[in-house]
Amino acid sequence: MSINASGWRPEMAGKDNADGAAPTFTGNKALMLEEALIFEIGDTTTTGVDIAPAQEGKSRLGNLARDTTIGLPGLSEPETVRHYTRLSRQNYAIDLGLFPLGSCTMKHNPRLNEKMARLPGFADVHPLQPVDTVQGALEVINELAVWLIKLTGMHGVAMSPKAGAHGELCGILCIKAALEKRGEGHRKVVLVPESAHGTNPATAAFAGFKVEDIPATAEGRVDTAALKARLGPDVAAVMITNPNTCGLFERDLKEISDAVHAAGGYVYCDGANFNAIVGRVRPGDLGVDAMHINLHKTFSTPHGGGGPGSGPVVLSEALSSFAPLPYTARTKDGHVHLIEEERAEEFAVEHFGGKLDSFGRMTAFHGQMGMFTRALTYILSHGADGLRQVAEDAVLNANYVLRSLEDVLDAPFAGAGPCMHEALFSDANLADGFSTLDVAKGLIDEGYHPMTVYFPLVVHGAMLVEPTETESKAALDQFIGALRSVAERAKAGDPALKTAPHFAPRSRLDETQAARRPVLAWKDPAPMAAAAE
Ligand SMILES: *Cc1c(COP(=O)(O)O)cnc(C)c1O
Repeated sequence: MSINASGWRPEMAGKDNADGAAPTFTGNKALMLEEALIFEIGDTTTTGVDIAPAQEGKSRLGNLARDTTIGLPGLSEPETVRHYTRLSRQNYAIDLGLFPLGSCTMKHNPRLNEKMARLPGFADVHPLQPVDTVQGALEVINELAVWLIKLTGMHGVAMSPKAGAHGELCGILCIKAALEKRGEGHRKVVLVPESAHGTNPATAAFAGFKVEDIPATAEGRVDTAALKARLGPDVAAVMITNPNTCGLFERDLKEISDAVHAAGGYVYCDGANFNAIVGRVRPGDLGVDAMHINLHKTFSTPHGGGGPGSGPVVLSEALSSFAPLPYTARTKDGHVHLIEEERAEEFAVEHFGGKLDSFGRMTAFHGQMGMFTRALTYILSHGADGLRQVAEDAVLNANYVLRSLEDVLDAPFAGAGPCMHEALFSDANLADGFSTLDVAKGLIDEGYHPMTVYFPLVVHGAMLVEPTETESKAALDQFIGALRSVAERAKAGDPALKTAPHFAPRSRLDETQAARRPVLAWKDPAPMAAAAE
């Protein structure tokens, strides 16, 4: 047991630890509780529950029966609950404070969404339940689909992809199927601008395409001339993130789409940042053929730390018939039906004039029901005008951050005009030896989760701040004050910043070693020590 890492000993009298206070017996710092691993606090020979010993019986496992103990720690219920609650208090969360992660859109999740998602008729449905018992759930999926199509000005939508990157794969597979149907499967190149999200080239490569980079201009947008010059009979598609990862709107998108279409290619738009333009811009008007929407960014719903996502893909008329099954559709009888393989052809003849070229399935079932319910609740509670205000406030807040800090932090594209939903800074003017990492670690001591760092790659030492529309001016001012203070310390070369954070449960860790040589399994040191003796 090693619960007492920093207990007081007589020789420590009068001595301070790193943050100026005498160490405590427990290692706790008031409400900041130390917590050991569950294997260290629990004993493998005890159990937290009182079960009568199993009756002797003949084992049917034969030589498969375990002959050593399983080695799991035995803890009582309160010990277990406390362990995980203490650990959870070491987390940062959107319900604790501003979460400035750029590109991730960490915004408040209204409790109303949670209430709706927990209604038994949505929360407890089983994907294999007879369709006539889940009409309400199908209505939700279909109503959300109609909103997504309307908001984007597109023709169809595939609801089942389970995250942004999954949606990218869905869109690219639609494009692949469309090219093959046209007899142009030889188009193997996907053009990806430098300002695109990293998942874009990964998706294209995964789907079997060859990825080629298109450079960015000095002001952080796609180099339209370079892109046009590269178009040709081998190009299948371009993948453009809009707004892009520099937080800028790709103003030439319509011109780019027209050129790509004229050259026989398709336009994939990474719409994960739709939060910044929802209600203001319809990607369909810009010539986009496929675009995923991260419901978990634009339409709230909790995410991060492995939480669920949902990435429906809106499709142009040219691609809609290639969408994966199943999908929902309201038929002439007024009911919403689930279109599966066995009904697809008949349905297509009746409703789409016989066109059905679905490339297959993306998931076993219909997508993330909980996310759909939350997103539709968010949409209906904001209404069309409220959604437009979401985008406007998100952009206003990001510009407020940008303009409030551009005098202290280098802001590479600030001269190009207003930003969209996120403010981009770099480490260009910090003191020698100080970097973006030091600023990020300093922010932890100020009580904030750091912003996104070292992304986008087009900017050296990037710091990407996305405040979202959720934050009040007071909250933004406090965050700006904190970041300004840390930036000033990094510019003045404050040596204490090099070892920050000082107030977190653990100070600076070797992140490279942690990533390259992770120690993922706990080994009991006692037997190892005994073996060594
Ligand atoms: C978040 C994000 C993605 C990936 O979405 P996931 O749901 O994490 O797969 C793709 N592109 C952009 C621009 C993003 O911000």
